[in-house]
Amino acid sequence: MGFGGGITLFHVRGIRISVDYSWFLVLFLIIIWLSGFYRDVLGEDNSATGPYVLAVASALLFFGSILLHELGHAFVAIRRGIGIDGITLWMFGGVARMSRDTDSPGTEFKIAIAGPAVTALIVLACAGVGIALAGPQGFRDAALTEGDTGASGIAALIAWLGSINLLVLLFNLLPAYPLDGGRIARAIAWWRTGDRTKATRFAATLGRGFAYIMIGLGIVMFVSGNPVGGLWLAIVGFILNGSARAAVAQTEVSSRIDGLAVSDVMDREPVAIPEDASAERALDEFFLRYRWAWFPVVDSSQRFVGLLDRGTADGVPEVERASTTVGDLLARDSEGLSIEQDTPLEAVLGNQAMRRLGALIAVDDEGRLRGVLTADAVGRALQQPAGAPPAV
Ligand SMILES: [Zn+2]
Repeated sequence: MGFGGGITLFHVRGIRISVDYSWFLVLFLIIIWLSGFYRDVLGEDNSATGPYVLAVASALLFFGSILLHELGHAFVAIRRGIGIDGITLWMFGGVARMSRDTDSPGTEFKIAIAGPAVTALIVLACAGVGIALAGPQGFRDAALTEGDTGASGIAALIAWLGSINLLVLLFNLLPAYPLDGGRIARAIAWWRTGDRTKATRFAATLGRGFAYIMIGLGIVMFVSGNPVGGLWLAIVGFILNGSARAAVAQTEVSSRIDGLAVSDVMDREPVAIPEDASAERALDEFFLRYRWAWFPVVDSSQRFVGLLDRGTADGVPEVERASTTVGDLLARDSEGLSIEQDTPLEAVLGNQAMRRLGALIAVDDEGRLRGVLTADAVGRALQQPAGAPPAV
C-alpha cells in the first residue's frame, strides 16, 4: 500500500502521524451517519445542534482510538529496536510502518498483540464509564439498540465508541495476515517451525482465505439488499488479499539477505576527505578527480563527521578556497547518515537517509569510517538467490 500523499498532523515522541485523504471521506460519512443516529437517540429534530456536536466528538474519539491502537504497536516496536517510519490513518484504519521486519517470533508476537491490547483497554474503559453514567441496564440498551433508548447523549456516545472499538478489536484479531491476528498466527508458526519465510507464507495463505471469504460475503450482501456494506466488505477483502500477496513477496526478497550485515556488502575502501583539508584541495583532489556528488568527511582519528557535497564546495568564492577548510563547510545534520557496520542489512531496507542519499556511511562502534553502503550494493545482494554469497 502506498501512502505517498496525505497530510502530516503532528508528531508523537518523534513519530510522524499523518492522514491519507481517504480518511476525510470516512470522517465525513461517520459524522453524517452519527448525526442521524444521535438525533434518534435524543429525540431531537434536524435543527438541533446537539446531535452534530456528539457526532463530531464521536468521529474524533474514534480517530483517537485508532491512533492509540497504532501507537501501541509502534511503542513496542521501538522498545524492541525497530524504528517506526510513521503512522498513517486511511479509509480502512491505521498503519504503523516499521523500518524493518521483526527478527524473532517473540518480538513479532508482542508487537502484533500490542495494538489489540490497547483497543481492548479502550473497550473496557468505555464499558466502565458507560456503566457508571447510565447503570448496567441503561448502558446495555444504549450499546445494543438503535433509536430512542432514553439514554443521555454522553452515554450514547460512550456506548457507540465502545461498540465500534469492539468491532475493530474482533476484526483485527481475525487470523488473516497482515491483520494483527494474522501476525500472531505468523509468530506462532514461526516459533513452531523456526522458519520466518515459511511462517509468513502460512499466515498469508490464511489471510488470502479470509480475503476470499470477505469478498464472497460482500457479494452476497451486495445482491441481498445491503449494497454499501457488501461493497465495503468486498473492497476490504481485495485489499487484504493484495497485502497478503505483497507480504509474501517482501519476505521472500528479504530472506535473501538473512544473516548479512552492512559490512558484508559495503565498499570497504571508501574515499574520504579530511576535515582540515582546504576547499581548494577538496575540489582538486576529490570532486574533480572522482566526479562524485559527495564525499564522507573524517577527522584526524578517522571518525566520520559529515558529508561534503559538490555544490557546497563549488559555492565557496575562489579567493577564499585556500583558506576555507572542509570542516567549515559541513552540513551539521549528519545525524542518521551513518550506520554501525554490524547492523543487519535488512535494517537498512526502509532507511530514510538511504532513500534520500542513495547510500549510508558505515562506521565502527567508535564512529570511525569503515565503508560506504550504496543502494546499488544492497540491490545486488537482494537479487542473489537465497543462500548464495553476495557479490561485493
Ligand atoms: Zn493493529
